[in-house]
Amino acid sequence: MPDTAPEAPPRNPGLPAPVVALLYILVCVLPLILAALRVTSPTVAWELAAAGAGLAGLAAMAVQFVTSGRFQIVSGRLGIDHVMAFHKTAAWWVLLALILHPVVYVVPTLQANPALAQERMMAYLTLPHYRSGVIALAALVLLVMTSVLRLRLGLRYETWRAAHLVLAALAVGAGLHHAVTVGRFSAAGMVEGYWWAIGVAVAAVLLTLYGLRWARLHARPWRLASVVRRADRMWELDIQPAPGTPALPYEAGQFVWMTEGRRRVPLFDHPFSIADSPLRPGLSLIVKEAGDFTDTIGSLAPGTPIGLDGPYGTFTMAGQGDRAVLLIGGGVGIAPILGLLRDLVARGHPHPVRLAYAAGRPENFACLDDIAAAEAALDLRSLLVCETPDDGWQGETGILDRARLARMLDGLDPDRTTAMICGPGPMVTAVADNLIDLGLPMDRVRYERFDYAECASRQDRRLRRQFMALGGVLALALAGFVLALA
Ligand SMILES: Cc1cc2nc3c(=O)[nH]c(=O)nc-3n(C[C@H](O)[C@H](O)[C@H](O)COP(=O)(O)OP(=O)(O)OC[C@H]3O[C@@H](n4cnc5c(N)ncnc54)[C@H](O)[C@@H]3O)c2cc1C
Repeated sequence: MPDTAPEAPPRNPGLPAPVVALLYILVCVLPLILAALRVTSPTVAWELAAAGAGLAGLAAMAVQFVTSGRFQIVSGRLGIDHVMAFHKTAAWWVLLALILHPVVYVVPTLQANPALAQERMMAYLTLPHYRSGVIALAALVLLVMTSVLRLRLGLRYETWRAAHLVLAALAVGAGLHHAVTVGRFSAAGMVEGYWWAIGVAVAAVLLTLYGLRWARLHARPWRLASVVRRADRMWELDIQPAPGTPALPYEAGQFVWMTEGRRRVPLFDHPFSIADSPLRPGLSLIVKEAGDFTDTIGSLAPGTPIGLDGPYGTFTMAGQGDRAVLLIGGGVGIAPILGLLRDLVARGHPHPVRLAYAAGRPENFACLDDIAAAEAALDLRSLLVCETPDDGWQGETGILDRARLARMLDGLDPDRTTAMICGPGPMVTAVADNLIDLGLPMDRVRYERFDYAECASRQDRRLRRQFMALGGVLALALAGFVLALA
């Protein structure tokens, strides 16, 4: 076994979090600054607040196109789940600002004459002059509501995703039209130029996401070499580049967006972690049957063309090669964990490795042969925990509670150990918090989740506070705009 593990290749490019935050504020606040430069005479505070909410809200809505997780420059260092969490949080203040935009305009009238205020509001909603603004607002409300209520409405993921794209493009397109046609500050000068630039940027984003990526999926196809059943409703796909397709320079733990056959269209792709080491040619994915797309994955014929877009994600061991590693996988969350484990084996990781793998039933455990082989190659101790065992089960029963985690950490220096966790949201949250309580520094507890649902680990809560601070900065900028010009 070599003394030192070779370092992983450099991580994907991405701007540091403070730079992304600053750029976000700048883009959202810029229309306020440009508008402020145009105003020469004092204006009613309510009107300024209404206009300012419209300006900053529209800018923030357009920025949502690049917080969809597909742009490495934005999410390369932050991680897709953080970026998606931001996307969801920011959607609320975009919605609030743009609903307040027409409402605040009528507040002075409401104070003086409620009946007239009602008439004015009806005029905003019905006059052809304002139609694009009404369409934009309706599309935005529908977009947020269908996202929040997707499961309750029983919307298929693909249907929701297509509708999300159409509604987002409609909301921003109609919003920009509204701004440059009736906007008090936007109809001419630098603010109008700003909206045109935003329009071009959004069009470029859409072209990149759905035009260039579609072309790349077809110009650089991969092929399914084999598909093997690895556990109950879990399949391992070996995917190799077709002749002429370049290799994918990924890091262990990252993920790709995958499509197959004729459906190689970015709108239909699905994210899957790479369960492999980059030192092996091609890559493997471990896929659990979970719905329309994955239910048929086991019946794909070898040779099927595969479209891969990636790599994405920050769930990697970059810069941690000199440390002990605690790998924790729950259910199909074992996929990136296996990728990391296989990579540690391929690189001959010289430090202790601990693996805890939890699943609901014995037949859900995948790739136990790989884990046994890794035990022979590494200083690896593993623990299998099953929630609902059967008579033949030889591992432990229950969940990965604090006592078991403490046992896994036994003999490791918490300051020189990195924990990598992937699994269902509640498990990830509990395990991450427990590990921090057991002495692991917060920045050495890394995790990935397969759904972007709200979660509330200590790290999530810290992140949410940071997001709220960003929203607070925007609110302050709006207040400053009103105070400066009123
Ligand atoms: C970063 C990441 C890595 C993942 N890695 C793996 C993996 O290695 N192995 C594995 O089995 N699963 C993985 N998943 C989950 C996998 O993407 C979904 O199970 C799959 O897309 C379900 O698609 P479906 O059409 O079969 O099911 P559906 O019935 O369409 O969806 C079931 C649920 O999966 C989620 N989902 C569906 N489509 C998408 C999509 N395009 N993007 C994001 N979420 C979606 C939604 O929450 C949806 O409610 C990963 C998810 C993410 C976000």
